[in-house]
Amino acid sequence: MAKELESLKQYLVDARARKYALGGFCFWNYAYGMAIAEVAQKLNLPMLYIIGDAEVQFFGGLKNAVQAAQTVAEHVDVPVILHADHFREYDDIRRAIDAGFRSVMIDASAYPLEENIQRTAQVVELAHSAGVSVEGELGRIAGCEQKLSLSEEEAMQTDPDEAAYFVQATGVDILALSIGTVHGEYRFPPRINIPRLERIAEKVSIPLVMHGGSGTPEDKVAEAVEHGITKLNLATDLVKTAGQATARVQQQPGFGYSVANLYAPAYVDLARYAEHKMRLLAKNIL
Ligand SMILES: [Zn+2]
Repeated sequence: MAKELESLKQYLVDARARKYALGGFCFWNYAYGMAIAEVAQKLNLPMLYIIGDAEVQFFGGLKNAVQAAQTVAEHVDVPVILHADHFREYDDIRRAIDAGFRSVMIDASAYPLEENIQRTAQVVELAHSAGVSVEGELGRIAGCEQKLSLSEEEAMQTDPDEAAYFVQATGVDILALSIGTVHGEYRFPPRINIPRLERIAEKVSIPLVMHGGSGTPEDKVAEAVEHGITKLNLATDLVKTAGQATARVQQQPGFGYSVANLYAPAYVDLARYAEHKMRLLAKNIL
């Protein structure tokens, strides 16, 4: 049964209303993507993939990535969403929409507020005319290498009043926040700013999302979900899980270089990891 990819907004609006979240699972190959989709199917949750520029290259372009996700969708009974992650340029987003993406992120968070608004609003206009949902970002999410002082950290984080203004001025559907998570692996103990999230959630009613889910303490994740976080991006942990399984199996006696021997442990470990995260994020509805 041919099934189209779905846009993200409606699922996250429901998630915010019912206080749960979806994992945004990095999609970089079909087999590993299927491992996670089977878990979504088992738990009857939408399958949400996120894909950045680097992963798109490994599929051989935007259209191939869309087709791979559509093929997954044909194999499961749950909705499948493919979300363009951290796209920065209008033209790249236009190409993604032309290729069949129904959900995109425009990350103009490196620009000053007004330019972020202008760039985001331009994408919203294009995307909404095609029924595509849009995530914007306000505040800077640090990279794993950045060890910041408390005041530097606070200065990068999303301001609640600016967030309300940004949402109203851009018409964005979903808002990515900076509240202390980082991209990549934490090199220092994470400090997730729940009070700031609470202040933002009071002023912003659209679904809120948190990037940098890998390694973020699970008690903080659960708390963030109670306060409006509806999507948690997971990439580093997935690559690590697959990479470690693939390395481990090659040390085992009798390992032969068959595809099954090489891939099966990663497939199993990814499924286990995804199930654990999905159950944590969606515990209020499961
Ligand atoms: Zn991110």
